[in-house]
Amino acid sequence: MIRNQVWNSYINIFLYKFLYGGFKMKIAIYGAGAMGTVLGAYLAKSGKNVELIDNFKEHVDALNEKGATIVGKDNFNIKVKASTPDQMSGEYDYVFLFTKQTANEIVLPHLKRFLKTDSVVCTLQNGVPEYSVEKIIGGNRTVGGTVLWGATFVEPGVSEVTQDINVDYPLFDIGEISGEITSRIEKVAKILEGMCQVEIVTNLMEARWSKVLLNSSMSGLSAISGATFGDILENDKARSCLSLIASEIVKVAEQINQELAPTHGVDTIEYGIISTPNEFKRSQKHFIDFYDDKRTAKASMLQDLEKNRKTEVEMINGFVVEAGEKCGVTTPRNKKIVEIVNRIEKGRQSCSMNNIEELI
Ligand code: NAD
Repeated sequence: MIRNQVWNSYINIFLYKFLYGGFKMKIAIYGAGAMGTVLGAYLAKSGKNVELIDNFKEHVDALNEKGATIVGKDNFNIKVKASTPDQMSGEYDYVFLFTKQTANEIVLPHLKRFLKTDSVVCTLQNGVPEYSVEKIIGGNRTVGGTVLWGATFVEPGVSEVTQDINVDYPLFDIGEISGEITSRIEKVAKILEGMCQVEIVTNLMEARWSKVLLNSSMSGLSAISGATFGDILENDKARSCLSLIASEIVKVAEQINQELAPTHGVDTIEYGIISTPNEFKRSQKHFIDFYDDKRTAKASMLQDLEKNRKTEVEMINGFVVEAGEKCGVTTPRNKKIVEIVNRIEKGRQSCSMNNIEELI
């Protein structure tokens, strides 16, 4: 009799946990700023057990008190759980890294204390962050991905998604550094599919280089000019500069035999091949087509400059400069963007469309 009661209570606990999510894997988004808030809101909406972690206390309080509010190309409010890093507890199964790369040296040693040997950390940061992340977190726990949607932070608790995510192509390209398709990367994809389409790639570094091409050109120009992506497309000089900057990374990639993954079905190398007038025209058209639905967006680097924060320019344009120096290819426009952004960071120059003149 007593044995039956004990068994019944075990079964009840199991059913309760199964039905109400007690056995759900624990997911964290570390860095719930512009991007992390949007991802966290969609994952919460899809029923995932997700926690948004950020050290901006006012924002964390607003998320807990009023939920996450998404505006822009989608509009909804959803209850979320948010914490500051010192409120983290237990162990996380999956962590999506959405702080800036500039914070990694502080964030990663702290995060490591909340990981199991088989936890998975997926860095969605711009640049090529996987190698520095795995140095701290361990290669056995690190995967990565590029993100092909954007967001702008509005105010505590509110983030703007700057493009339609209900599209028929993937907005996350995720993969293992080795390129293998593993069961854990499939699980990461399943989680992200709570937001939009996801592709598992076997060429993560090729996808990374393609994204660096887009970021070094459009985000670099948006940062120095203080302009939205739409403003850059509409300004003839600025739009020409997109192709000129892209041509530098293509030259570096060709020199070191680094392939570039296609972007929405287009051979990304074509963005930076501009030897003839027709090739230049084709490059310009690719930029217009790719950024047409992202006209209201402004670069994450520009959002940092507006908040007097250090940008990721060293990890984006600086990455191109460093890769060029290693193989003997000059990258003067990327170098100039790093210089201008550094001057703006130090308060010696302002963001202005006139800064484009320095690239011509
Ligand atoms: P963001 O600055 O809006 O968000 C970063 C968040 O990290 C902030 O809320 C900040 O408070 C938090 N943070 C900083 N240091 C921290 C710490 N020590 N502990 C906890 N939290 C900390 O940046 P974002 O625009 O969301 O970009 C995040 C990443 O995504 C970057 O690598 C960026 O390049 C990339 N990205 C951005 C966009 C975009 O449209 N914004 C698009 C694609 C990729």
